[in-house]
Amino acid sequence: MSIVVQKYGGSSVADVARIRLVADRVMRTRQAGHDVVVVVSAMGDTTDELLQLAKQVSPNPDRRELDMLLTAGERIAMALLSMAIRELGGDAISFTGSQSGIITNDRHVDARIIEVRPVRVQDELAKGRIVVIAGYQGVSYRREVTTLGRGGSDTTAVAMAAALGAEYCEICSDVDGVYTADPRVVPDARRIGTLSYEETQELAESGAKVLNAQAVEFAKEKGIAIFARATASPLPGADPSADGTVVRRHPPRQPGTVVGVASERDVLVVQAFLPSTERKGRLSTEREGFSRAINSPEGLALLALLDEHRVAGKQLHVAADRLTLVVSRENLHAEASVRNALADRFGSAVRVDDALGALSVVGAGINASFENLRRGSNALMASGVSIAGIATSSFRITWMIDRARLDESVRLLHRTFIGVSPEPCPYMTTVLDRFLRYVAYDTQSDPQSTTYPSTSKQLVLLRDLAAEFESLGLTDVRVDEFGYVMATVPATTTKRDVPTIGFIAHVDTSPEMPGAGVKPIVHRGYDGRDLVLPDDLTAVLRLADNPPLAEQIGNDIVTASGTTLLGADNKAGVAEIMTAAAYLMAHPELAHGPVRLAFTPDEEVGHGTDHFDVARFGAVCAYTMDGGHRGEIQDESFSADAMTVTFNGFNTHPGYARGRMVNAIKIAAAFIDSLPHDALSPETTGDHDGFVHPYVVQAAVDRTSVRLLVRDFETAGLKDKEALLERLAREAAAAYPGSRVEFAVEESYRNMKEVLDRHPAIAQHAREAIRRAGLEPRTHPIRGGTDGCRLSFMGLPTPNLFAGEHNFHSRLEWVSVQDMEKAVEVIVHLSQIWAERTGS
Ligand code: ADP
Ligand code: ASP
Ligand code: MG
Repeated sequence: MSIVVQKYGGSSVADVARIRLVADRVMRTRQAGHDVVVVVSAMGDTTDELLQLAKQVSPNPDRRELDMLLTAGERIAMALLSMAIRELGGDAISFTGSQSGIITNDRHVDARIIEVRPVRVQDELAKGRIVVIAGYQGVSYRREVTTLGRGGSDTTAVAMAAALGAEYCEICSDVDGVYTADPRVVPDARRIGTLSYEETQELAESGAKVLNAQAVEFAKEKGIAIFARATASPLPGADPSADGTVVRRHPPRQPGTVVGVASERDVLVVQAFLPSTERKGRLSTEREGFSRAINSPEGLALLALLDEHRVAGKQLHVAADRLTLVVSRENLHAEASVRNALADRFGSAVRVDDALGALSVVGAGINASFENLRRGSNALMASGVSIAGIATSSFRITWMIDRARLDESVRLLHRTFIGVSPEPCPYMTTVLDRFLRYVAYDTQSDPQSTTYPSTSKQLVLLRDLAAEFESLGLTDVRVDEFGYVMATVPATTTKRDVPTIGFIAHVDTSPEMPGAGVKPIVHRGYDGRDLVLPDDLTAVLRLADNPPLAEQIGNDIVTASGTTLLGADNKAGVAEIMTAAAYLMAHPELAHGPVRLAFTPDEEVGHGTDHFDVARFGAVCAYTMDGGHRGEIQDESFSADAMTVTFNGFNTHPGYARGRMVNAIKIAAAFIDSLPHDALSPETTGDHDGFVHPYVVQAAVDRTSVRLLVRDFETAGLKDKEALLERLAREAAAAYPGSRVEFAVEESYRNMKEVLDRHPAIAQHAREAIRRAGLEPRTHPIRGGTDGCRLSFMGLPTPNLFAGEHNFHSRLEWVSVQDMEKAVEVIVHLSQIWAERTGS
């Protein structure tokens, strides 16, 4: 059997739900007939958190003790993953780095692997077991535990693959391969199908985090193919470059081709000013200067001091009067002590600059001519970015620039050298891209569950949405203990007292239809013809049955494939809010107050607001983006009660019951039959009419209870209906002497209009925003309740706006891309309107 090594990064094992997904992927690999070795990183941000802890105890923590601490992170993940695999019926065993035979030198915190002796791993594989290994760690010849430097789990995986003669090594992460730039920074970046070892190594060394540079070095040495893939992607098929990146020996490209742009912000620039060599002639001055710089005792002493503190070098420049070093901060955990040592030894002759970042373009033969260097430098200068230094090699050009301008400069050089992608990156661009990404998550809620949220799979999307907010630069991003995600788009207005407003959507989908394995289909340019959904040919979306489709001719309609829900309810709203957030963050010139955003679980099972912290949300009002028709605003809902009518009878043996038995079932039946037949029921009312609706009967002779929904747009109307029910129930019982009837009424929710009428600006501003988006506002009462009803009575007035959702809870659910775009516009306008109309 061939051996496959898979590495799962921190984001892929960030919580229990994800660990289960990884276990499932490992099992599938095993079932495909491979021997499997799995390397795991520490869960989520564990390594960063452990480092933070260490810093709290000691600003310059001891390197050996750091390693003892940091290796704990991977140890937790390996054990949990092994348990999860066993839970699925797999036979797994976990090993630390030392148990799996990873032997390193004794350079704590960034040790190098010298040898791998995978004897125990091989023994376990021979027994048919799946071996789970803690990444990022090893043991030195002195039997000290070591770590391999940040991102070192990749190195463990590749070194293990080489030692075991694996067929390939998969590096699984949250991104489906190596892109032409970090897709979080460059929305236009595209995935690169195949890369050479050298190109990948240079990209990694220039800051592309997706693969670790040392890992690539190992792979190159042993000729191991690396497949960089998303954990959520299928197992590699016949052509793994079709849905991931393959790193292997690769024929040279056209020299000078730029394959990618990368940046590194975590660098320090150390400059040593050498004694001046003025007075002499210019040419000789420079030559003398160089030689002086290199030969000067100060220069060499500086290098020695950095080595002593194990500061990893990146680049060195020598000029007539100074020596410049760029050093990486990634594995530098005692920066303060290095700075002190420099100051003690060199005083003001050595300066540490902490405001620069490195911006690189990579490609084989990139400097065959100076053309690339000129193009890049010109583009940077034209946009007013000043260049503090340049370094080149045959694979790379690096510009040192102001760190604050790094991201925009990455985008600039990506445009200059790589251009706009013909197909946008699936990672984060438009509202459609986001929507398609979110519906891939199964987030069904469960009415039977006793946990909160009702299903842990909702947390996977909730946490990823929080990470996306963070990557967009929003502030106060938090996922609370119940899973609610909140974040802020900070105010841009110069006015004072502009109130904070909010937008809310829920991530869960209805338990009524399957929510896993959603295959969204984008029907471009809808022309009114039937849309037949391919996985169930009886699922047909017809214009005749769906009048709102008439307005969508020429638009792009998204449906599922016929066997699942699409999940537009409410992932359309989630995508709209996220896209509006990205837009507002990218356009600080648009004036608005603070905009709070929240994503919530469990709306479909009636618990969406149970733990919503209105005070922490801190907005004067909010809008749920969870409605249907384009242009719609819903500021009026039912007022709702639930009523239980219980009839008590008397039960006895039916053979001896004459004159004694009182059958509560019959009383209940008479009561239900006495309800109006042609009015007051869901099936006979519409618009502004309310109803009473028996929906559960629990029947026994002794005691039968009927549960009824009571609905009316006027809360006072509820009382009338309840009085009617009470009268009919008493009349039914009166016909059965000896019976007794009880009533219980529970408040469900109230018409939000009672609250919203007190704050007319909330709906007025929404109408204005809808108009500015070029739509006619339509107001429709909701014949139901929304989370906004409850929120309105919890102190956060919250009407509902259209998100473009149709055919809720049905396999024929659909949404139009153009409606979602309009909803994004509405959010952006609404944020600005509040700043225009309020504050001073
Ligand atoms: P893991 O936790 O799985 O090891 P990392 O966070 O180390 O994952 O690496 C994945 C991240 O690398 C992505 O989320 C992405 O933002 C970032 N990244 C930076 N540059 C690139 C690039 N050129 N291609 C793909 N991803 C990149
Ligand atoms: N957990 C380590 C880190 O965060 C190693 C890794 O994830 O590769 O750097
Ligand atoms: Mg990594």
